[in-house]
Order: sequence, then C-alpha cells, then structure tokens
Amino acid sequence: MHTTDLLAAKRVRASLCMAGGERDQALTLYREINDLYREWIKEQREMQYESQKRITAAAKDITKLMDTIRASEEKAERDPLTGLMNRSALVRITNQFIQTAKGKGKKLGGIFLDIDYFKQFNDTYGHAAGDDAIRKLARICMDEETPAVQFFRYGGDEVFGVVLGYSENELKMLAHRIAENVRALELEHEKNPNGQRLTVSVGLVNLSLKEAEYTLLDVINGADRALYYAKENGKNTVFSLCDLPASKDDSAEQ
Ligand code: GH3
Ligand code: MG
Repeated sequence: MHTTDLLAAKRVRASLCMAGGERDQALTLYREINDLYREWIKEQREMQYESQKRITAAAKDITKLMDTIRASEEKAERDPLTGLMNRSALVRITNQFIQTAKGKGKKLGGIFLDIDYFKQFNDTYGHAAGDDAIRKLARICMDEETPAVQFFRYGGDEVFGVVLGYSENELKMLAHRIAENVRALELEHEKNPNGQRLTVSVGLVNLSLKEAEYTLLDVINGADRALYYAKENGKNTVFSLCDLPASKDDSAEQ
C-alpha cells in the first residue's frame, strides 16, 4: 500500500476490526486525499479448523467510473443549446441559495432576462440566427457567474439568475452590465424600435430577512413581475420590484 493511502488503510483496518459474524462482506466507497476514488471490498471468514479469523481486503481504483458518473450528472443539468444550467438545476441551486441566505442573514436576488421582440427576430433572420442570439446572451451571463451568481436557461428566450448577498445597487449594476453587453453585440434587429439592435429587458427582486418566509416561487414571481413591468414600459430596460409603483393588490394588502 502506498504511503499516501495510510489514512485510508487506517480506516479500512478500523472497519475490518469492527466486522462481526462468521462471514462478513462489505463495500466501502470513498474519495481519498489524493483525489482518487477507491472501492474497498473486505471479507472476513471464521476458519473451520482454526480458532482464527482470516480477513482479506482488496482495493479497486474506480476514479474513472466516478468521473463518468459525475460528468453525466453534470450534463443532465445543462441546457444543450446554451450550456447554461437548466430548470432542474435552478430549483436545486436556488433552494440552496435560499437556505444560505436565511442562515447567514444575506439578501437573495432573482434576475429575469428576456430578449425583446425575439419572435420577430426569428421571423426576420431565421431560427438558426435566433439560436445564435440566445447562445450569445447565455455567454454574457455565464461570464458573470461566480459562486454567488448563477444563471439558468428558464425556457425560450428567457434566462434566470440567482444572486446571493448582493445589495440592491450591486444587483442593478449587474443587470445593467448584462443589458449593456447585449446591446454591445450590435446584433441587427430591424423590428426592434429601440435602436434596431438586439436588446433585453430585465426584472429584479432582492429579498431580505424581512421576508424570511419567502420561497423559490417568491424569488421567481418577484423577478417576473418586475420583468413584466419592464416589458410594459418600453422594453430594453431594467426594473426592480422595489421600484415598481404599488399595485392595487399591494395597497389592498397594506
Ligand atoms: P417580448 O419582447 O415581449 O419578449 O416578445 P418576444 O417576441 O420576445 O416573446 P415571445 O414569448 O412572444 O416569443 C419568444 C419566441 O422565442 C417564440 C419562440 O419562437 C422563440 N423561441 C423559443 N425557444 C427558442 C429557441 O430555442 N430558439 C429560437 N431560435 N427561438 C426560440
Ligand atoms: Mg422575449
């Protein structure tokens, strides 16, 4: 056994010593300090003619197998067109972010981006050009990703992002930067009255401990309401839910 396996060897010995019964077989799978996955197979047998126990253990390197499993798990959570994470990853990661936000008293932001007049873009330049535009928007969003900022393809021409621990101002700056980077692509879109170039509208929400009972749906719906408002107010713009005029529903609640 290699010296780097010393820790592993100790653990295996400990678990072998604990094994009881006349015959005991067990599998142990774990990642070692040297980044390899090993599968340990141990067998303990009471010898018939001797009052001795005989124990054998074998280690099999299954790093490649584990890498393949991890790669296919990762692929299952990616949108094939853009390489962005998909909606099942959105649910998993946003819920993780919500837990962290509540646990550590951080803000939890949601950001919805939607290409303006995208149906007309497809109709004018073709579906392949439309696919390319979605990919370019995705690339811009992915370039902003950090452990605290993650983006997902929500569907069609919509991208959703979840942001942990940003102030309202930082969240707005992120949204404006993405919208500006999309404009800077200078993709021709003759049916877009806002400069005849491809643009996006963005809706934001930034939830805090004041709304401690919020869920995944509140994050998505909050950002979606702000996006709807941006679409209703000329498109090619960024709106945050907190800047929206109070609706009749809101004033009835207060
Ligand atoms: P708005 O400015 O209000 O956002 O209008 P819109 O035309 O962008 O929005 P709408 O929801 O009416 O149309 C979205 C279009 O996106 C409809 C659909 O044909 C197109 N679309 C959805 N998924 C894809 C895709 O994967 N590739 C391409 N090329 N088009 C897509
Ligand atoms: Mg659209």
